[in-house]
Amino acid sequence: MTTCLYICGAGHSGSTLLDMLLGSHSRIASLGEIINLPMDWATNNRCTCGANVRDCSVWSNVVHEFERRDGIDVTANPYSLNLGPIYAVVGDSKVTGRAYRLRRRLGSGLHYLELKAGAFGALRPLLPTIYRGLENNLYLYDLVGKQLRVDFVVDSSKVYAKAVGLYKMAPDRVKIILLVRDGRAVYYSMRKRNFDRTLSLNSWYTHFRRALPLIEKHVDAKDVLTVKYEDLASDPAKEMQRICAFAGIGYEPGMLDFKSKVHHNVNGNDMRFSTASEIRLDTSWVTKLADEEKKFFLQRAGWLNEKLGYR
Ligand SMILES: [Zn+2]
Repeated sequence: MTTCLYICGAGHSGSTLLDMLLGSHSRIASLGEIINLPMDWATNNRCTCGANVRDCSVWSNVVHEFERRDGIDVTANPYSLNLGPIYAVVGDSKVTGRAYRLRRRLGSGLHYLELKAGAFGALRPLLPTIYRGLENNLYLYDLVGKQLRVDFVVDSSKVYAKAVGLYKMAPDRVKIILLVRDGRAVYYSMRKRNFDRTLSLNSWYTHFRRALPLIEKHVDAKDVLTVKYEDLASDPAKEMQRICAFAGIGYEPGMLDFKSKVHHNVNGNDMRFSTASEIRLDTSWVTKLADEEKKFFLQRAGWLNEKLGYR
């Protein structure tokens, strides 16, 4: 059975970097934000190996296995491949339009409430799609593990409910890496892309405000490791040694040269396609985020930032 190293965190926090560093270990394969594979199939996005996903040997084999097992036609209907709620906005409004988003919000909200109440599985009869999606991810991990002959996969879907759900379903097969970054840096990343203040704050704030208590409630301390983006980018060798020890495997120095291996991770940022393995700590928010914006952030979310170790 293949073990999943699940990266749980907010966007703009270095998850693609961590995913590819880990996936450069000889026993690990990187999957990327696999929750969005159906969207990748629908739009035939490019896999990091260079092929479009429908032509990539890994993903075409995975899809074929799901089609064979479940009697579905993923090419005709990419979203019949259920890997959990689709969060990415795609052009296919029949699938991810208003009605879908409402259903997703309702289902995800109920699932969050049952996790918050410590009652994983209680609403399963009402939420069969969510539970089936979790099972399908575990099946997918094994398919990729067998094909690429690795013991571990990295899922950087980031969603906290998926992290906890997978762990509750298969605690001996899931280890969670809680990837954190100074919330002001994430806020700045969003603001410079012209998102409004509320969304820029909440993409980070809501994630950690909900994720921390759920992980504490449901996940054994030995199965969760907190990694700071700033530590990872400043001293990747040290952090990768720590993460390998957490996973129970030996550190390989070659992991740092993450461009020397062919990866098949899907989604994530464009560093997937660059040719250099350079790792650079980005602290541009310190000088570029206006004082008034910093104040806005700290007044609302300073307490949570402190809890994650940022002052
Ligand atoms: Zn590929």
